[in-house]
Amino acid sequence: MRNSPFGPRILLRKLREVMAETISAQARLDKIVVMIANNMVAEVCSVYVLRADGVLELFATEGLRQESVHQTSMKIGQGLVGTIAAEAKHLNLEDAQSHPSFAYFPETGEEIFHAFLGVPVLRAGSTLGVLTVQNKAARFYAEDEVEALQTVAMVLAELIASGELAQVTTPDAGLDLVKPRVEHGLVLAEGIGLGYVVLHEPRIVVQNLIAEDTDFEITRLKNAIDSVRGAIDDMLLKGELATSGEHRDIMEAYRMFAHDRSWFAKMREAIQTGLTAEAAVERVQSDTRARFMRSQDAYIRDRLHDLEDLGYRLQCNLMGIDLNKHTENLPENAILVARHMGPAALLDYNQTNLRGLVLEEGAATSHVSIVARALGFPAVGQISGITSYAEPGDPIIVDGTNGAIYLRPTIDVEAAYAEKVRFRARRQAQYTAQRETPAITKDGTEISLNMNAGLMVDLPNIKEAGAQGVGLFRTELLFMVSHHLPSVTKQTQMYSQILDIAGDAPITFRSLDIGGDKPLPYIKIGAEENPALGWRAIRLTLDRPALMRAQIRAMLKAASNRNLKLMFPMISHVNEFERAKAHVEAEKAYLKKRGIPLPKKIELGAMVEVPSILWSLDKLCEQVDFLSVGTNDLTQFLFAIDRGNPRLSGRIDPLHLTVLKVMNQILTTATNHNVPVTVCGEIAGKPLDAMALIALGYRSLSMSAASVGPIKSMILGLDLAALEKLVQNILEKDEEQIDIRRFLADFAHKHRVSIN
Ligand code: PEP
Ligand code: MG
Repeated sequence: MRNSPFGPRILLRKLREVMAETISAQARLDKIVVMIANNMVAEVCSVYVLRADGVLELFATEGLRQESVHQTSMKIGQGLVGTIAAEAKHLNLEDAQSHPSFAYFPETGEEIFHAFLGVPVLRAGSTLGVLTVQNKAARFYAEDEVEALQTVAMVLAELIASGELAQVTTPDAGLDLVKPRVEHGLVLAEGIGLGYVVLHEPRIVVQNLIAEDTDFEITRLKNAIDSVRGAIDDMLLKGELATSGEHRDIMEAYRMFAHDRSWFAKMREAIQTGLTAEAAVERVQSDTRARFMRSQDAYIRDRLHDLEDLGYRLQCNLMGIDLNKHTENLPENAILVARHMGPAALLDYNQTNLRGLVLEEGAATSHVSIVARALGFPAVGQISGITSYAEPGDPIIVDGTNGAIYLRPTIDVEAAYAEKVRFRARRQAQYTAQRETPAITKDGTEISLNMNAGLMVDLPNIKEAGAQGVGLFRTELLFMVSHHLPSVTKQTQMYSQILDIAGDAPITFRSLDIGGDKPLPYIKIGAEENPALGWRAIRLTLDRPALMRAQIRAMLKAASNRNLKLMFPMISHVNEFERAKAHVEAEKAYLKKRGIPLPKKIELGAMVEVPSILWSLDKLCEQVDFLSVGTNDLTQFLFAIDRGNPRLSGRIDPLHLTVLKVMNQILTTATNHNVPVTVCGEIAGKPLDAMALIALGYRSLSMSAASVGPIKSMILGLDLAALEKLVQNILEKDEEQIDIRRFLADFAHKHRVSIN
């Protein structure tokens, strides 16, 4: 270290001595700042602690005026110290005062210091404070000085998080641990689960931070890495993971991290500063977490989870904690609670006792959610802070129907949910019994019920749910769980596996609907002001013909000698469909020339989901083999209401008269042209809404697998002729204010139609 007579390891040793002394936390901090200043030949060393009210307070200083201790404070984001806390990133400045965030606190007397180095004090990714050094002479601090200060900050984090100072940072912590709590988050996987909290990754407290022998620690790290890598490789070879498509893809990505050199290089560097191997893992994890968590990119944040899972495995290995003991001995009715979780970690648990999952983060498209859905238990994400206020063994309810969780629920809530679960089980048994029954109304009209899918693991649901086929296969989901653009060969394999599993059940593939809310990490779209109206779906694939052609070629090959149904999303004028069709023709010619057998039958369709196409439907019908109405987007665009904005949801009932009129117009035009039409938006899976669609004349619906049972029950009890009259009446009256939902609910009630 430049100018330093001691070096970081000596500093750490001295720190250990101070930590062991029986003195107050304040006295300890006062000693520590002097030690750091001496060791780093800095004229100033200061510690700022982040209070529970979000203010950073100067707690100890060597070099600034002592009167400013406990007087000088700043908000997160204010001044240099506030900026470091907000961004969880260090600042190394030659001349602090020329930095745009510099704020002047006259009571400190710091105007004479130019060089400034500040590092965040991080623990488990949260900022607890800021540690700074300053010098009069203008200079940048050297790389190893930054490293050393970060290491010291780590020791400080333990001091701040424990003992007296914990009172300052989290004053109400005690109360939070006993109160019942209801929180609302995001549904990651459907269902309801009742059970008891099991904290995934109970926090490992690294007590042994400072190493005696660096070489020994590096060897320990190496051994731990080898053993974790071996375990991941084994997992990849294990049973079903080896065969199931997207699971394997996820695990491959995971293995890639496990072999990442730079990640381990950082840990080795941290050991060189004097830390033990487990402390070095903690430090690097803490840094990575802080950086990734601030990323706007959901995909990057998801990758952090895979990386964190690996870090945890490493720490368990280094500290002799048996991961299997924890995961295999899962108590009965366990609800896992985690800040985040990698897919591998979830698969590690003994599934028999698992009843649900709650995450602080998590998105519906993250890998762990995909795995939870595939394993069939409820999961709710975005429950901020739950790992800090949920205690192991606390009763908890996960409601994956509306994204709520009830921690330490009251007796009433628990009883209501227990009843709900029993009810769902009875219903499920009913649906299963009806699986083979065709969906025919009481007066003899058959409705084709299909399901929406997007992943390999969805396919067994066709049979289980009693659907006829897949009315919408969202191919973009296969692309979203892949870490790179799947090649034509890989795509051919995927589509043909889908057709194999589906057997006789028809599948309607949809060409890539990426962009908007479905970004792909390997296709640059760039920032857009209105992504929903942006470069997405057919617009993007027509502009990227190679992407479009690869997908079409793979589908044609996969469906060779069988039937292929393919539709294009977001068609806003006829020409877009014609151009897409021309690509199919070109690919057919390409394959024919090479003697590759084509599908027996090819049907091409368009999604009706952009209002402009409503005025060209006649022309479109002359071109297509079928239509599919995407009511999610169609309603969003008709009413200019963002479908992803929770503030706007509920503002317009999907059973609005305007929607019925439009749906009526689409069906009439399609029928005039003899073009079959399906509805594949969410409303097809809602009993009352589906009733309206059937009354309008729709005979084919596609919905989530879980909706097929309830919709079939509704149809089996329906007197269609009576309902048609009612809906015709509503259309003829043409009264904007009419509450169609209520009319339909009254009808269902009167005729005992099941609408649950
Ligand atoms: C729709 O828009 O209604 C639809 C089915 O497609 P997605 O939800 O995938 O946009
Ligand atoms: Mg859509």
